[in-house]
Amino acid sequence: MKLPKIRELGEAIKAVIKGPYTSKFPREPHIPHPNFRGQPKFNDEKCVGCLACEEVCPVDAIAHKDIVDDNGSARRVMIHYTDTCIFCGQCEAACIADSEGIKLSNDWELSFFDREKESSETIEKDLQLCEICGSPIACKDHLKWIAEKLGELTYSNPTLYLSRLKSLGIVDENIASALKDKGRSDRVKILCARCRRETTLTTK
Ligand code: SF4
Ligand code: SF4
Repeated sequence: MKLPKIRELGEAIKAVIKGPYTSKFPREPHIPHPNFRGQPKFNDEKCVGCLACEEVCPVDAIAHKDIVDDNGSARRVMIHYTDTCIFCGQCEAACIADSEGIKLSNDWELSFFDREKESSETIEKDLQLCEICGSPIACKDHLKWIAEKLGELTYSNPTLYLSRLKSLGIVDENIASALKDKGRSDRVKILCARCRRETTLTTK
């Protein structure tokens, strides 16, 4: 009979004392290693809705929909498709909110009963609409983020400084001018790039 080597004998004794290395899933919940790279999760509080994560995702696992209701309220729905994601972490690395808007978690469980309903996760952000044409400009939190980065330079751009003043509560959030003629008087408004150009070039 061939005798076991010393190392193998040591491993065998350790296994008897410590128990198996494998977990007892699914009988008991599996707790992954702290460094496990699992599903990324959005952080509603930190995300500013800039879409940088969507741009860099190599497999299109992040998407968005801009929804404008008839009553004028608008929101951006950010969607993460958990069944497409490859957990590469590019979204977290590119996140402009100090990599806090989306983060890899240690959530590894990917099984679900209804793929249509359960294979995606969403968050919603308020959208800022152009005060003339009503088209979406950016998420309100994103405009606020840009204004904070620019500091006093913000005051060279009416869209940014009005967004900033609204976020600080200095200007009423619901205030909107009755004038919608793309004329000079409309320059001090929150405008999309097209309307900003047209109000600047028009000489009414
Ligand atoms: S972890 Fe990679 S694949 Fe998954 S959403 Fe982020 S960038 Fe896309
Ligand atoms: S803030 Fe981060 S998580 Fe939110 S949209 Fe931008 S890159 Fe994505």
